[in-house]
Amino acid sequence: MLYDVVIAGGGPAGITSAIYTARGGLKVQVLDPMGGGGQIGTVDMIYNYPGFPQGISGPELMDLMIEQAKIFGAEIEFGEITQVGKAEPMFSVQTQNGDLQAKTVIWAAGTTPKHLGVPGEDKFIGKGVSFCATCDGPLFRDKVVLVVGGGDSALTEAEFLTKFAREVILVHRRDQFRAMLANVRRIENNPKITVKLDSVVDMMLGEDKLESVVVRNVKTGETEEIRVDGVFLYVGSTPNSGPVGHLVDLSDNGYIVTGEDMSTATPGLFAVGDVREKPLRQVSTAVGDGAVAAWALEKYLIENF
Ligand SMILES: Cc1cc2nc3c(=O)[nH]c(=O)nc-3n(C[C@H](O)[C@H](O)[C@H](O)COP(=O)(O)OP(=O)(O)OC[C@H]3O[C@@H](n4cnc5c(N)ncnc54)[C@H](O)[C@@H]3O)c2cc1C
Repeated sequence: MLYDVVIAGGGPAGITSAIYTARGGLKVQVLDPMGGGGQIGTVDMIYNYPGFPQGISGPELMDLMIEQAKIFGAEIEFGEITQVGKAEPMFSVQTQNGDLQAKTVIWAAGTTPKHLGVPGEDKFIGKGVSFCATCDGPLFRDKVVLVVGGGDSALTEAEFLTKFAREVILVHRRDQFRAMLANVRRIENNPKITVKLDSVVDMMLGEDKLESVVVRNVKTGETEEIRVDGVFLYVGSTPNSGPVGHLVDLSDNGYIVTGEDMSTATPGLFAVGDVREKPLRQVSTAVGDGAVAAWALEKYLIENF
């Protein structure tokens, strides 16, 4: 099957590209292992996306974006792109369900949350260890949970978890948060949240499910075992750039380097959203990237096909 554009990832960046390119009359295929939605589709509420003064839930926002892309004719399906190759002038796109041909590719595959890499962590994933407060928070009603991280994601999700948990312990390895002041203030004013700065989790313990964690103060070296029912990890992300890594320039951290028009080192291949090197990874910047790439891609098609 030949497409004008194949888009890897159905988060806000990929779906915005789909809206613009499909509306422009192009034949568009979006593939996503989860069928679309992206990371923001797992977030309870978003308060900083323009147009929603009372905030909007992540799943609702993504359902609306996906509906809009489908109205313009984009095909959005379950599927993971495993490799992209260039066989001039086309791209060959390998998926688990067979190969596609595309005149252009937009890489919008986002990032994957990092693990801590401490003993016990892998054993208790799904048995107390989680990366998604919206998905798993309701399982911890009246329990004690610990959140690891010091950025905006950690702070907003810690606050969200206070809806369910009786106590939320927020552990951050530095002496201050790396988050917006508004989020820091909300944490400081929330009586259900206890903050432990200069601290790291060294170990997760339990029999069949997580029962406690060992927390170490990095300045004093003191350790304590804290009984918890759940741990939520927000300690950074790894870009999902692997399948196009050989076609693009990567930053030191593995993010895709693009021009202002989202073009990469391979003509016809564009990268948008959280997977690209940029200063701010948010929904508003992801949708901006998606729109710019669609514009540049249409120009590329006119000049090359
Ligand atoms: C806990 C948390 C809270 C957040 N809160 C906010 C907030 O309040 N406001 C805000 O603006 N932003 C927030 N963000 C950030 C926001 O979620 C991201 O900036 C945004 O989702 C990035 O969109 P994206 O389309 O680039 O990537 P993503 O949303 O990550 O979507 C990428 C998609 O690509 C898919 N994919 C991965 N690999 C492949 C492959 N090989 N082939 C095909 N598809 C693939 C993934 O399954 C995923 O669905 C938050 C993030 C987190 C983690």
